[in-house]
This record gives sequence, C-alpha cells and structure tokens, in this order.
Amino acid sequence: MSHYQGIIDRYRAFLPIEKNDSIITLYEGNTPLHESHNLRLAINPELNIFLKFEGLNPTGSFKDRGMTMAVTQAYNAGSRKIICASTGNTSASAAAYAANCGMIAYVLIPEGKIALGKMSQAMRYGAKIIQIRGNFDQALSMVCDIAKEESDISLVNSVNPFRIQGQKTASYEIIDELGFAPDYHALPVGNAGNITAYWLGYQEYFEKRISQSLPKMLGFQASGSAPIVRGHVVKNPETIATAIRIGNPASWKQAEAARDTSGGVINEVTDAEIMQAYDMLASLEGVFCEPASAASVAGIIKLNAQGYFAAGANIVCTLTGNGLKDPDSAMQSIATPITVDAEMDAVRRALEGK
Ligand SMILES: *Cc1c(COP(=O)(O)O)cnc(C)c1O
Repeated sequence: MSHYQGIIDRYRAFLPIEKNDSIITLYEGNTPLHESHNLRLAINPELNIFLKFEGLNPTGSFKDRGMTMAVTQAYNAGSRKIICASTGNTSASAAAYAANCGMIAYVLIPEGKIALGKMSQAMRYGAKIIQIRGNFDQALSMVCDIAKEESDISLVNSVNPFRIQGQKTASYEIIDELGFAPDYHALPVGNAGNITAYWLGYQEYFEKRISQSLPKMLGFQASGSAPIVRGHVVKNPETIATAIRIGNPASWKQAEAARDTSGGVINEVTDAEIMQAYDMLASLEGVFCEPASAASVAGIIKLNAQGYFAAGANIVCTLTGNGLKDPDSAMQSIATPITVDAEMDAVRRALEGK
C-alpha cells in the first residue's frame, strides 16, 4: 500500500522499531504547516509565522505521535494494559490507541479539571477512568508507582522514552516541508515532554545534515503554573489552559537543556494573553486551537513586543490541540447568538443589527 500510514511508517528509519513489530496506528501526523497571513500582519508584518496545527491529529492533539510509538512498543512486548495520568489529551489518545489493538487503558485524571471534549473521548474509546481529588502531578506520581509494582501494566506518560521518540517526528515534518529549520520554534510547556521531543528531532536532522541550522527553542508556561520560569515547584498550579496546568514537570531538566543549548527562552504568559492569542488565531486566521495551544502564539506576541525578533525571522508555533476539545472555554466571554422568529422580516432586521 502506498497511502499515508502514520508516523512510524513514514519515519521508521529514525525510530526504535523492530522489523517484525505490528504497528498500532490511527494515521497520526502529516499535520498542516499553516502559513499565517492575517495573524502575522497583526503581530509583526516583518516576521514569517507558521502554525504547526497538531489539533488535526486523529484524537485532536499531538499526543497521538507519542502514543502510536508507546502503544506499539508495549503491544509488541506482550503488554495488554496501559496506564497514564492526564490533563485530558493523553487519556483520550491512550484510550483510542488501546481500543484499536484491544488493550485496556487505565487513566487517572484530576477531578473537574478536564475539558469536556477530552473526557467524552476517553469515555467513548472505553478507557477505565479514575478521577482523583487532586492535581495532575499527584496523578502522575501514583501511576508511576503502579506501573513499577504491576509489571503487566505499561506506563504511557511522556516519561516513557517511546513517547518522545514519536513526538520528535513533528520537527522532521516541519523541515521536510519548509526545506530548512526555522529560526525559532515556540510551543506551550506543561510536563515538558514536547519541547524535549522537538529539540531532539531538530538535533537529529541537523546531525544527519538534512538541515543546516538549529532553531532557538521558545517554551511558554501559564503564569499560574510556571515552575520552570520561577525555578521551583508550584504546589497548586492554576490556569484556564488546563493542558499545561502542571506544577512539577517530569521533563524539567530536558526542557532547560533544550532552552540552554539552543539559546532560547522559557517564559510565561498570563491567562488573558493566552485567551487573546486563542481569539486571534480563530478570528484572524481561521485556526481553532485549544487555550493551552495558544500559549505559543501568546509568547511570540510578548517577545515581539520586547523587540526580541529580527526582521525576516522564520518562526514556527506548535498548536498542540484542537479547539473543539474545550467548548466551555470557547463559549466564555463571547456574545451569544440572538434568537428571532422564523420570519423573513425578523431575520432581515437581525442581519441589519436592529
Ligand atoms: C499535553 C499538552 C501540552 C503540554 O505538553 P507537554 O509535553 O506536557 O509539555 C500542551 N498543549 C496541549 C493541548 C496538550 O495536550
């Protein structure tokens, strides 16, 4: 078959996959690299801003890139049970890949802090969901202990190195499409697996001389949950961007290494800045991402205002998840549609704003 068959098939030579492994795929990856125009004009016409829209993966977030690798590895090692802690998207992705190969997915989530779309996905895909009265960091620590004690259950959080391997393919796709590495790569930082993975992917293509340069990595945390920016664990992280509501990132050191070796920055953006970028992406560009995803663009706006970028810079922002995941955030602070009688006069008056 020659049609697109997912990231493992496409990038097999760069991934730790055995020849005879059965590949568990939902045809993830191959997501659009959207060249922004109205958004770029609004931010700074001298910049080239590309949006890697990971919300168009099969379960609506970049987590699918890591999950095809983690579940393929677990499945071929004979495991039939996976477990993860999640702010939402990991659980939806784990549940989908588990369903696809007849595995059981157990997920621990913080009660009441999961966007509606993510919760409904995990339930429909048939995951065994346990809500805890606590936050993501507590959930992660518990699933790590469970996976250590129960040898037949595989952990599929991003501390699983196969997740990072899968997620690095987003950098490959960007270079394969642009023909070069961008000058800057911006993305939201939660548990910090993704910034680690992108940096790995960029370095590998550079070492293999597929690209001639490396981007500076720009990571953005929400102000209410910005442990790397503050330099200490945040006990009770808070932000509207629930996907990055994490106070003690598992890949903290790797994120700092990506920042320092690339010469980039890890900075913070407020919930108001996140929601402004979220709104601009949808209304100026027609790209609907979830709030956490917009932290990348909010960060670019912030750095641009400080004069950080030189004219002509090529910037890629990862939009990590789909806006449809979080209808509650979407409906916040927005005018509700007006209702009129089903009569032409009434509709005409409404069109004219009367
Ligand atoms: C998981 C997730 C993040 C955070 O990624 P990390 O690898 O944990 O830093 C950001 N945005 C969305 C939509 C996510 O699902």
